Parts: sequence; structure tokens; C-alpha cells
Amino acid sequence: MTKRKKTKRNQPRQKAKMKQKDTVVTPESGGLEDLYEERSGSHGDYSMASQVTRLGDKRWSVRQRQAMAANVGQIQGNHHLQRAVAMLDQMGKSSAIALDHSELASDEPAVRRAETDETSGTLRQIVHRIPFNFQIPVAARAEDETQEAQSETQEPVVIEEILPTEELSGASLDNIMGTFAYNQSIQRGGVTIRASDFGFTLPSGRLSNIRIVHTLSHFFVTGEFVYVVNWDVRTSLGPNGEIDIEDEEDADITANNYQAVSGDLTPNMGDLNGRPPRTGFWAQDLTERHEQFHATEYVDFGRQGLTVAQNWLNAQTAATTDDVRTLLPQAQNRIFQLIIAAEGAPMEQRAYGDGAPLYKARADAIKRKGEAGDYFYIVQPGDSLWRIAVHLYGDGRRWRQIYRANRDEIINPNLIHPGQILFVPPK
Ligand SMILES: [Zn+2]
Repeated sequence: MTKRKKTKRNQPRQKAKMKQKDTVVTPESGGLEDLYEERSGSHGDYSMASQVTRLGDKRWSVRQRQAMAANVGQIQGNHHLQRAVAMLDQMGKSSAIALDHSELASDEPAVRRAETDETSGTLRQIVHRIPFNFQIPVAARAEDETQEAQSETQEPVVIEEILPTEELSGASLDNIMGTFAYNQSIQRGGVTIRASDFGFTLPSGRLSNIRIVHTLSHFFVTGEFVYVVNWDVRTSLGPNGEIDIEDEEDADITANNYQAVSGDLTPNMGDLNGRPPRTGFWAQDLTERHEQFHATEYVDFGRQGLTVAQNWLNAQTAATTDDVRTLLPQAQNRIFQLIIAAEGAPMEQRAYGDGAPLYKARADAIKRKGEAGDYFYIVQPGDSLWRIAVHLYGDGRRWRQIYRANRDEIINPNLIHPGQILFVPPK
């Protein structure tokens, strides 16, 4: 077996997929979700040692390691990544993650562009982040690399620095004056709806474009909190095939099922302040409203969190810009802490409470219309007029009433057929 074959076989398989994404970091890839998962301990090891091992592991392609580095930069902060790269550099492994992405050869530390989401067709913002300011030597090409891999390692570039690294020795402790713009947006799409859910909303955000200017008495810090709240709902069918009911005129409602439909959409005030049971039927438009309610709340929480973080930062002092730099992740954590505390369990109570009157109005309208006999009855296998009268009125003796109302349709009252559509006289 040749050396080349062996290397190829050991390589992880997602190569083609990673190639398109490489150093692109989407806002949703490193936000609150990661924080949650880190807390619950399910997200893997983000220690320095683990990252250094992973980034230096040459079984991954250069592109894959670039993507990992970009992710580390976003999840752990550029400072952490910079230290990891410095360690790799000392170990002679830094070529492993030489960032050679031509789109990053810019003076701006972060490059934003809009991209159309392929699945939902909506626009979303893609943020290219430049994680650290090392000039990394070109990789010494391994003999067994494929031609494709060789073309991937062209054009190393200097990665622009986000924060200045000035050191002011002997400076006294100066005040910090931080001002961060709140750059928020709500976007449909960009989240994966979990298997059992009708919809989902997920916020993610980063402090970015940070500039620090040290004057005689102050560190002036500017930047922005880029915060995206993604939400989405299912279309047409619910997670277990539940049927969407737009209103009381919906063609899926019949005299056979109107009671079930109405019951499914009736808010249960004992369950999360008005969650409707939705066992066989749901309402897509009211679910959209529900998720947008969450999204609007998240935007408020983000704004409050940013204020808390800014006030906290401005109560600190620093001797050097490096000191300020180490305070910034702590400030950012305060934003997330507030968001997590604010959502809490009552988040669903608030959202279902908001939707409850609309669900109730729809359920009531369906019930009224059903009881008025305004939905057709569709004859089921095994039905007789007697059984239908029991089903509709709770009284088999009223079969004549149904028969009289359907004289054109029913020739012989003892002979009805599955699929026949009958008028239902009002109760
Ligand atoms: Zn919800």
C-alpha cells in the first residue's frame, strides 16, 4: 500500500463540503447555542491543549483546519486563538492553519456580505472574521498531497489585527469609556427546527469591530454588538403530520372532524398559559406569530444586555490596552448572561399567552360553524344514516332530518356510499 493511499483514507470525508465554506463564519455558528452546549457539557473540549491538538492534526485538510480556527476564534475569542497559534508556531506546526483566503485580504477586520439562504430563499448576513494577526509561513507541502490540496495552500496573507497591541509601561489606571452600537436584526431561516417542534428561534451575537484609543486619562473603546435572531416555522404540516388550519373556512374542516379541529386549536390555559394541544391540527400563521414574539423579546434582551455590559466595562480601569482587551470577553459574557436570565421559563408562558386569544377566536369560530351545520359531512366506510345522526347529534333517531336535507344525493336511505358529501342540518 502506498503512502498516498493511506493518507487519503485517513482524511475525514467532508472535504468537498468544507471547501465551499472554508473560513466563512456564519453568525449562528458561534452564538448562544454554543454557550448553552458548553454549559451542558455536550459540546466537546475547548481547552487550549485540546484546540492546539486539533488544529495541529494533519489528518484534517488545510481548509478544514482553517474552518476550525475560525470557529475557535469566534467561540473562544481571538485572544485564545492567537495563543493557540503561537503555541503551534513554536511547535513548528503553524503552517497547518495558514489562512490564505483571498477574501480576507482586506483592511477591514470583519467583512460582511449578504447571502441568499439556499433552503429558505431568504437573505442572511455572512460575517467573515479575521481571527488573529500572525503572518504564518507557507506550508511545506507534504509529498503525498493531491493537486487539489496544493491549489488550496496558495497565497498566504497577513491577517489584519483587530485590536492594537500597544503597551504603555508605567501608566496609571485609567478609566474606560466604551460605546457600542447595537446592530440587531431578525431573520427568518438560518435555524434548524428540532424534530418535535413546530418552530424555533435562536439568537446569536458578537462584539466586533473593536477600536481602542488610549488618551492621557481614558481608554476610549468603540465597536458594535452584531446580534442576529433567527427564527423559522414548519410549512404546511406539523412535526407529526398535523394539518394546518388557516381559518374556519379551511377546506380541511368537515362535519366529521370540526370538533377535533376546534379542540386542537383551543388554548389550554393550564399548559404554559395557553398552549393549544395540536394533536392532529395546527395553525402555521399563529406559530409564526409565536416565534416572532420570541424574536422581538430577544432583541429587547440583547439591548438590555449590551447596556449592562457597557456600564460594567465603564466601571473598570486599565493600565494598558491589553488589560482592556482581556475585559472585553467578560463584558460580552454579561450580555449573554442577561439574555439567558431574561428568557427563563416564563418565555413560553408569555409567547403562548400572546397567542391564546387568537387561537381561541379561531377554535370558537370553527365550533360555531360546525354546530350551525355549515360543514359538509363525508360518508365514511361502515356509516349508516343512523350512525351519522348519532355522530352529529348524539341521537340516531334524527337520521330522517339528514335524509330530508339530502334528497338529491340519497336515493335509498339504506344505501349510502363512502365519500358521499352530505349537507348537515343545524342542531
Ligand atoms: Zn416558543
